[in-house]
Amino acid sequence: MQVTRLPRRPAPEARADRPRWRLATLIEIGLTGGIGSGKSTVAAMLADRGAVVLDSDSLVRELQVPGTAVFEAIVAQWGERVVADDGTLNRGELASIVFDDPAELELLNAIVHPAHAIEMERRRSVYEGTDTVLVFDIPLLVEVGRGGFDGVVVVDLDPETAIQRLAADRGLDEADARRRMANQASRAERLDRADFVLDNGGTKADLAAEVDRCWEWIGSLGEG
Ligand code: ATP
Repeated sequence: MQVTRLPRRPAPEARADRPRWRLATLIEIGLTGGIGSGKSTVAAMLADRGAVVLDSDSLVRELQVPGTAVFEAIVAQWGERVVADDGTLNRGELASIVFDDPAELELLNAIVHPAHAIEMERRRSVYEGTDTVLVFDIPLLVEVGRGGFDGVVVVDLDPETAIQRLAADRGLDEADARRRMANQASRAERLDRADFVLDNGGTKADLAAEVDRCWEWIGSLGEG
């Protein structure tokens, strides 16, 4: 695993006469992990510690509400079968169309990705020139090869434990989860991309302690 160490800023006493016009450092962190690894839990813990979280999946959902250009383009492509009775997108149907069919997935990505990239960048740019810690919660960060972060944090959990937790907490369809897991990056591939690994194999209190350690590390990235 490669650990990124950015140059450290001098100790505070050495910076006492630092000019007031010094530019603030925006720190951009990519957060990822396997299905049910605890990404949302970690994102919430980081938000509690002061981070601003940009959630990739919820942005996709926002971009797909009825009336949006993305929604209209999806319906134009696959017809009424992807519209639920209440007029919203039938996500399950759309997922089943694109799962295992690279050509269909490519069509969907061509509709969603440009709008997603533009809106994500718009939201990011609001924090330009500030000393915000921006956390991009991106489940498929490794799969899409997204880069450009100051650091990548991976929430690591044995997939079997993830399935047990999701089954207990959300009554998930185990076979479906296993299929989706098989279609995503492996645990090892994700760890290989990590600058910081958060072990979520313990209790939530253990995870909070891991997040404290991670928050300290994130702070050190701004000390350039
Ligand atoms: P998804 O892949 O579905 O988006 P996720 O990676 O965001 O999931 P979470 O939703 O944060 O994962 O966690 C999955 C489930 O595991 C949740 O019900 C959460 O409360 C629970 N959970 C997370 N961490 C722990 C832990 N350390 N101990 C017990 N349960 C946990």
